[in-house]
Amino acid sequence: MPNEKILIVEDEPAIRELIRLTLQSAGYPAAYEAADGETGLQLARNHHPDLILLDLMLPGIDGLTVCRKLKADEETRNIPVIMLTAKSEESDVVLGLEMGAGDYVTKPFSRKILIARIRAQLRDFSEQENSSEIRRSGLVVNPDQHRVRLDDRELELTFSEFEILRLFVSHPGRVYTRSQIIARIKGVDYPVTERSIDVQIVNLRRKLGTWGVNIETIRGVGYRLKAGV
Ligand code: CA
Repeated sequence: MPNEKILIVEDEPAIRELIRLTLQSAGYPAAYEAADGETGLQLARNHHPDLILLDLMLPGIDGLTVCRKLKADEETRNIPVIMLTAKSEESDVVLGLEMGAGDYVTKPFSRKILIARIRAQLRDFSEQENSSEIRRSGLVVNPDQHRVRLDDRELELTFSEFEILRLFVSHPGRVYTRSQIIARIKGVDYPVTERSIDVQIVNLRRKLGTWGVNIETIRGVGYRLKAGV
């Protein structure tokens, strides 16, 4: 049974209830609930939940502002945030991810997807990024030696390709915007642009062969490694 406490910040009572029931069915204990951003911030500061589900369209202060305040406050900075968004809010999703939100789920969402994303975030948070080897479905990434093996075959990657792959395998299921990826590899090989990230991803997928399909393009947002790989 999981024992992580989750804070739901959502103004629609019906969606709040759906989330509450979903969490209960997955064994999570009773969550904290807020119907507006101000209350959400207070609950986050007072109770320090393990994860926050944050609607973007809220009365009063909107979800993006809540996210920015959470990430600016030392007390709440490290709490993973999953944004709850509408289809039309792609540009807000990019902003939120760049502010430090870990992921987003588009409404209407299935219970299964919501729980999978929550688990990925909680696991992400507890996992050590710099462990000596990261293994994902036949792929072995060794950050210390800067080596990648796929089914025991050594892959030749450029420094940037390696850093991008390392970012993805460290956080399966997590979406990265192009500028987040740029920040990670900046100034390594040559000046990096958003377009050049797309090129690097194409090359990386090609070198990874069939494994490359695990790197998903999220239209209008960025890239991620499939959850559960
Ligand atoms: Ca709303």
